[in-house]
Amino acid sequence: MAQHDVAGSGVAGSGVVGRLAPTPSGRMHLGNVFSALIAWLSVRSQGGRLVLRIEDLDPRAQSREAARLLMDDLAWLGLSWDEGPYFQSERKDAYAEAIERLGREGLTYPCFCTRSELHAATAPHASDGTYVYQGTCRDLTPEQVAEKARVRPPATRLRVPDPGAPEGQVSFRDAVYGDVREDLGRDCGDFLVRRSDGVVAYQLAVVVDDGLMGVTEVVRGRDLLGSVGRQMYLQRLLGLPTPAYAHVPLLVAPDGRRLSKRDGDLDLGALRRRYGRPGPIIGALASRIGLAEPGEEKAPDELVGRFSFASVAAHAQDIVVDEAFLP
Ligand code: GLU
Repeated sequence: MAQHDVAGSGVAGSGVVGRLAPTPSGRMHLGNVFSALIAWLSVRSQGGRLVLRIEDLDPRAQSREAARLLMDDLAWLGLSWDEGPYFQSERKDAYAEAIERLGREGLTYPCFCTRSELHAATAPHASDGTYVYQGTCRDLTPEQVAEKARVRPPATRLRVPDPGAPEGQVSFRDAVYGDVREDLGRDCGDFLVRRSDGVVAYQLAVVVDDGLMGVTEVVRGRDLLGSVGRQMYLQRLLGLPTPAYAHVPLLVAPDGRRLSKRDGDLDLGALRRRYGRPGPIIGALASRIGLAEPGEEKAPDELVGRFSFASVAAHAQDIVVDEAFLP
């Protein structure tokens, strides 16, 4: 594929290229800080290069102000980057080119199913809570496509091999969660590369970007473990290399719910006001992966020498954030 203005690709000292890929849908919260810290520590401990990519494709998450705050929060925390920021909203040509290429190879088809039709189908649910597409629009005739297209614009769906087919088997070793296997046909089904409103799907954009930006390792929350199969399949189809993967535990509220924007007292706006310095926040997170004593203040720089994924793997439980979590 053509390069799309990725300055400095392939000039890293150690050859390791990591990335921070936040979605600017609001202020960073503690969970985002935890995965960013580990991504940063991994790259810094290997003498690699870190790319910052703002994942602002979804118009609902397209706030330049949120992106500005994100970058300000990362810098305040001491989590520096070497390249970027790149904005996915400015890279749509690269995604369109990849989707066209898949289309030319006969790997995609227009899908007219609505959200409610998809949910009404008696589909088994995949491990990450999404449905397995039942193939309703897989074999429409050109006449049927033309007729349906008069009513609503289609999404674009990528064919995956049938359940059990050897080409649909994906396996990889996650640095934290170990060996993972997926049968794309059985566990995932044909998946979207572009929504009916024209917005490019996360899976496609992330694969194109990681490939063009020369990313060699992907570190992110374990909620995305179930995306790796689709991403590896796309890498194969687009002739892009597969990076190393490390998924990290999630931060959860005492009731088991994932921390989110609703936990406003744990976002960086509130935490910066509360502490005025990053040490207590980085220290609290580092203590949960054995890199600091409880209550100790730390800067990211001070943790680099001690970091390894073995220590994250030894603490691979989701982390409950209760009253006692922060000093
Ligand atoms: N943009 C995603 C997020 O903020 C991360 C995607 C990725 O790391 O692949 O959760």
